[in-house]
Amino acid sequence: MKYSSTRGNSAQVTSAEAIIKGLALDSGLFVPDELPQIDMSFIESLVPLSYEERAQKVLGLFLTDYSAEEIKTCVENAYGHGKFDCEGRAPVTDLGTMQVLELWHGPTSAFKDMALQLLPQLMSTALKKTGEQDKVLILVATSGDTGKAALEGFKDVDQISIMVFYPEGGVSKIQQLQMLTQEGANVNVTAVKGNFDDAQSGVKVIFADQDFNSQLKSKGVKLSSANSINWGRLVPQIVYYFSAYADLCKTGRIKAGEEINFTVPTGNFGNILAGFYAKQMGLPVHKLICASNANNVLTDFLQTGRYDRNREFYKTITPSMDILISSNLERLLYHVTGDKAQVADWMAQLAQKGSYEVDVKTRGIIKETFWADFVDDEATKKCIRQVYSQHKYVLDTHSAVAYQVAENYRHETKDNHVMVVVSTASPYKFNGSVLEALQVETEGLDEFGLLDKLREMNDQPIPAGLAALKTKEVRHKGVCGKEAMAESVLNFIET
Ligand SMILES: *Cc1c(COP(=O)(O)O)cnc(C)c1O
Repeated sequence: MKYSSTRGNSAQVTSAEAIIKGLALDSGLFVPDELPQIDMSFIESLVPLSYEERAQKVLGLFLTDYSAEEIKTCVENAYGHGKFDCEGRAPVTDLGTMQVLELWHGPTSAFKDMALQLLPQLMSTALKKTGEQDKVLILVATSGDTGKAALEGFKDVDQISIMVFYPEGGVSKIQQLQMLTQEGANVNVTAVKGNFDDAQSGVKVIFADQDFNSQLKSKGVKLSSANSINWGRLVPQIVYYFSAYADLCKTGRIKAGEEINFTVPTGNFGNILAGFYAKQMGLPVHKLICASNANNVLTDFLQTGRYDRNREFYKTITPSMDILISSNLERLLYHVTGDKAQVADWMAQLAQKGSYEVDVKTRGIIKETFWADFVDDEATKKCIRQVYSQHKYVLDTHSAVAYQVAENYRHETKDNHVMVVVSTASPYKFNGSVLEALQVETEGLDEFGLLDKLREMNDQPIPAGLAALKTKEVRHKGVCGKEAMAESVLNFIET
């Protein structure tokens, strides 16, 4: 299977090349030229398998230039070796009226682990397969969660090192501790004197600086990124849609062939797009429901066909969804229209004036599959409280947005297909907001006190990675000015 850009007819590449490159030369995103098709016997064959075995079968359909043995090793390194705290890796919890797909049993307790554990393995294997001699340095600017998940995924991976910049004082105490205590011989974490935008612009400047890149090249180093538009981050996410379906068959909750719905808390549109790929391949999915917070640019787009980022930006209790440009939407537009020139034109309009509007036909096709709604912080907290009182189950804020939108969907459409709510973070990761939603007194408690407090109400134990922070040694103390980020990169390479 070959991959090419969403925006033009630049050369086709293999999946290994797409994963090393990240972005196509014309700034488009890599997409597979055709989508593999599965039948019911494929799904039935997944039912008795482990998550790793299911992953091998699904990934093998897309990564046709990797050998079965290579995929097996990558998958085992990503999800095996005790990195996930439960046997199912991505288990489905039955709450009666809702099925909750828990994507946060990985090392950093957020759904980013599902992709960022596998991407480094795929990238390192790709470097070997393509005979690349240089070392790759991954640069990340983070406002919190992605940095830690990327560090965990890339630590001690062959031929690759990783450097993470975060805004000094701009991440939560837990997030900062998670990063500063990061182990691994190939990792560096540096605080930038500035805000997240400063850190992100700094990284962008480094990527674009030709002289700097040739200087690195002379030292045998190439830069790359781990952001959510890399095909190697998207493809791992297709797996859990199949795995959830297989689990529901296994428990007898559904019959093989029965259509189900998924509601997905959405930011960059990567997670829900993976669900779209699964549906296009033949997984029996009726609707994909896109859940947003007050930054409801996607709700408006999916309802009206007009994307407009020119609007107020809100900081919410679901920070991982505080996004106004959902990069992966570009892939959906390509698959729906098949028209690269048209996609390039919409993306140019987005870059120039911050908005574009799709035609009626495109809007119609999108609406056949997608439904969308959003909820504000108050409704999110109320949902956490209600689900807890009904089921003694604690949702994190992002997952609660999805849960509430799933209820809104049922209420409005009377559609009664089995509903899977995609849960993207452990409640311990957002314990302050969750405890506030549960109306628990938290005065005087520090981060670890909050964890213990939440544990009193939650059957799930505190994730080991979070509990261990209390005693872990701080290993990364570097701080730099926003003008000195390139210099820090050179210093890291020289050590
Ligand atoms: C990243 C993230 C999301 C958004 O996922 P997208 O793939 O960007 O749509 C939702 N919830 C949590 C907890 C996340 O970390």
